[in-house]
Amino acid sequence: MERRIVFATQNENKMKEIRMILADLGMEICSMKDLNIHVDIVEDGISFEENAEIKARAISRLLPEDIVLADDSGLEIDYLDKAPGIYSARFAGEETSYDVKNRILLDKLEGVPKEQRTARFVCAVAAAFPDGDVKTTRGTIEGIIADEIIGENGFGYDPIFYVPEYNCTTAQMDPEKKNELSHRGNALRAMRQVIETEYGKVEE
Ligand code: IMP
Repeated sequence: MERRIVFATQNENKMKEIRMILADLGMEICSMKDLNIHVDIVEDGISFEENAEIKARAISRLLPEDIVLADDSGLEIDYLDKAPGIYSARFAGEETSYDVKNRILLDKLEGVPKEQRTARFVCAVAAAFPDGDVKTTRGTIEGIIADEIIGENGFGYDPIFYVPEYNCTTAQMDPEKKNELSHRGNALRAMRQVIETEYGKVEE
């Protein structure tokens, strides 16, 4: 039987990236939308890994034959004791625009020198396997919080996340470049390795 990978997200932008990165595993890759599954999952973990695992396990109960992947991600700002962290989506209210959220964060860092504006995007990916095993991987990208909102690409906190090596924010990068460097890309590539070594060859 051909093994299927199901990614527990409704977000089609994430799915594009996931399909690109996992394509060479040679497995069918489905989204929740493809399978017409809608479930609300309470993410009450205290780490990115825990939240990713909660989502992967919940969907795995519905699809026990599949490899179910889920991710959880966010922005850690060192000066703010790693806030907004796992609360990145909920920071200042789920319905608040990112223009406003970004301005609130810039205000909190007003006058803070560059050396103390270090931050990172973090992504944990969890995989729940048909035998009940769950594995997680983590990817990060390091940067600093910019002084102003810059760039039109990307989403969320991208316009305030400046990557010194590239001299721009992640909102100024081509999407392909961001995928190559991003926390989600890194966590997914690490997970591809896990699936390949432990399960990928099993069905061949
Ligand atoms: P989730 O993992 O889809 O729940 O996303 C968590 C939140 O973290 C998002 O809503 C964004 O606020 C933030 N975030 C995660 N990854 C990125 C990114 O690549 N760019 C900008 N914001 C991000």
